[in-house]
Amino acid sequence: MGAPVHAQHRLSGIAPTDVLQTLLTDSPDEAAALLRRGHLVAFPTETVYGLGADATNPDAVSAIFRAKARPTDNPLIVHLAHASEIAKVAYHVSPSARALIRAFFPGPLTVVLRKRPSLLSTVTAHLGTVAVRVPAHPMASRFLSACACPVAAPSANRSGRPSATTWEAARDDLDGRIAAILRCAPSMEGIESTVVDCSRPEPELLRAGAISLEAIRTVVPNIAVASVAPNHAVRSPGMRYRHYAPSARVALVDTAKEAVPHPLHAYIGLERPSCTDTFGLCHHALDAPGYGHVLFSFFRQCEKAGIRAIFCQAVPETGIGRALMDRLRRAAAPQ
Ligand code: AMP
Ligand code: MG
Repeated sequence: MGAPVHAQHRLSGIAPTDVLQTLLTDSPDEAAALLRRGHLVAFPTETVYGLGADATNPDAVSAIFRAKARPTDNPLIVHLAHASEIAKVAYHVSPSARALIRAFFPGPLTVVLRKRPSLLSTVTAHLGTVAVRVPAHPMASRFLSACACPVAAPSANRSGRPSATTWEAARDDLDGRIAAILRCAPSMEGIESTVVDCSRPEPELLRAGAISLEAIRTVVPNIAVASVAPNHAVRSPGMRYRHYAPSARVALVDTAKEAVPHPLHAYIGLERPSCTDTFGLCHHALDAPGYGHVLFSFFRQCEKAGIRAIFCQAVPETGIGRALMDRLRRAAAPQ
């Protein structure tokens, strides 16, 4: 695999917070060796890039929250190389969890299970449950296998910002704050995993994501959908924050006609506006999966171009549209 692009500083023996320069590497083994020594490593997955730490190392787990400026009450998803490792961090895998794992692991599904007491409580923000996922991305699988430990990993962006769907986006947000970035192609999905709580008798959708509710229902027809009302939000703490937001203002529109043309405005949606060249940036997606795939990188492109307002066309809330609308609403939420 290729040589690091940045000169490698003496990484061994220094605390994760002391890292001055972020190593770019194409080697999952090199990235895993750094993680095993207690460092933070961004790595590709099929949903978005993750920011990984050894879930058994308390200092490394704390460093994730510092590097991202993430509230410590927002729990982390534990990433595993293989579903057979779930018993290391969770117990009591219910029949519905088993069915979902059989159907969708490896893949963009996260299941919430009862946490083993031995798992660090900082990983799960002191909840009695743990969220677990086994990515299907080949580079993520190689990296996680080489880590040979459960890897706690939120998305590789500063807290509240659009998720990183490319290694360059992870570098833009975290350069100098983390030890390394494992480089690969842009994430295929571009939208985070679907989160299903299986820690109670009735499974519940906590976060819409890359696997549609319709697909989940073919396996667990009785799934409930968590309310986003504030009193319910604690079931998935991450869902109560304004999230995914670029520095430009995000406005939802029903049709392309409602987007206000201006050189400092951008538009993204399924409909093509009649005057595409009167927007600073304009993206017309062919379908909802294509819209989801580019959304976060489009937000970041708008930031770099100095765009002030991004008009995003709403989509029907079916299939990936449910997750897409969730992300758009949160990005558009007032500060
Ligand atoms: P991210 O920070 O982008 O990786 O998103 C992780 C999501 O999973 C957040 O919405 C978290 O609140 C949610 N999550 C992680 N662990 C748990 C858990 N034990 N129970 C409920 N939600 C969780
Ligand atoms: Mg995130």
